[in-house]
Amino acid sequence: MTEDTLTVLSIPMRTRFRGITEREVALLRGPGGWGEWSPFLEYDARVAAPWLRCAEEAAAGDWPEPVRDQVPVNATVPVIEPERAFTLVRESGCATAKVKVADPGTTLGQDADRLSAVRDALGPQGRIRVDANGLWGVDEAVAAIRELDRAAAGLEYVEQPCATVEELALVRRKVDVPVAADESIRRAEDPYRVRDLEAADVAVLKVQPLGGVRACLRIAEDIGLPVVVSSALETSVGIAAGVALAAALPELPYACGLATVALLTDDVALEPLLPVAGRLPVGRPEVDPAALERLAAPPERVEHWERRLAAVRQDQRS
Ligand SMILES: [Mg+2]
Repeated sequence: MTEDTLTVLSIPMRTRFRGITEREVALLRGPGGWGEWSPFLEYDARVAAPWLRCAEEAAAGDWPEPVRDQVPVNATVPVIEPERAFTLVRESGCATAKVKVADPGTTLGQDADRLSAVRDALGPQGRIRVDANGLWGVDEAVAAIRELDRAAAGLEYVEQPCATVEELALVRRKVDVPVAADESIRRAEDPYRVRDLEAADVAVLKVQPLGGVRACLRIAEDIGLPVVVSSALETSVGIAAGVALAAALPELPYACGLATVALLTDDVALEPLLPVAGRLPVGRPEVDPAALERLAAPPERVEHWERRLAAVRQDQRS
């Protein structure tokens, strides 16, 4: 059994991401090691429940056997100037880059310029994917994907071009670039509508919102699509759960979105899970006791997380 003792940490972000500048995470310890429970602060008990199942699975040490010992990962390019995008991708050592597009306040031309810079950095063999986070309408998506596909000299796929599954299905029938579903799986009442409406070519899975490594393996099998494992801005403890899923999938044709530890200014592991030559090792990182002290959240935040945990437990009982 996992004890209900939380280690709550507060880690500044390197740059603002998802509107936050400080990442709060809770770690819990069980017989199998540490698990990370880090639902974003606005999530209620019902939404935070699968995140807790993921942490408990990790703390119990209940992960499936890996079939590979390292996992290829992508560089993530936020909305930045082309020159900075070029340098970021070059220095990442990754052969795949994921570029955020469709950000409010930016133009398609700016997205196209950033993509050309990323192509220059990767060379012709590199793979480029874009993520619109559901911000385009159908017609807008079709036009944008064609233009960005040209600017990138070929896109690997476009992630969540529109908000709804119906829209994804429409877009998928109008463009040649493969479509990946992210929010349409992880935030959906029914993750399998994407499959039933043939709305995507690729499934993006995140272990915390979807209830853990084994739960994601089942979804991967039932959804019948190639999977890209992605993170939810975790520390190395949480990232290791994503790596465990990527390591256990029978096929892994795409690089995973798990190279995100560097978005935080600090980490809990003695050896943080940062990519070397575009790959992460499979295994559990050793937690550094000094880091737990250094990053400890103030007592009122610990109490806040204890109340959150109690609310999830209460919800599970009712
Ligand atoms: Mg996404």
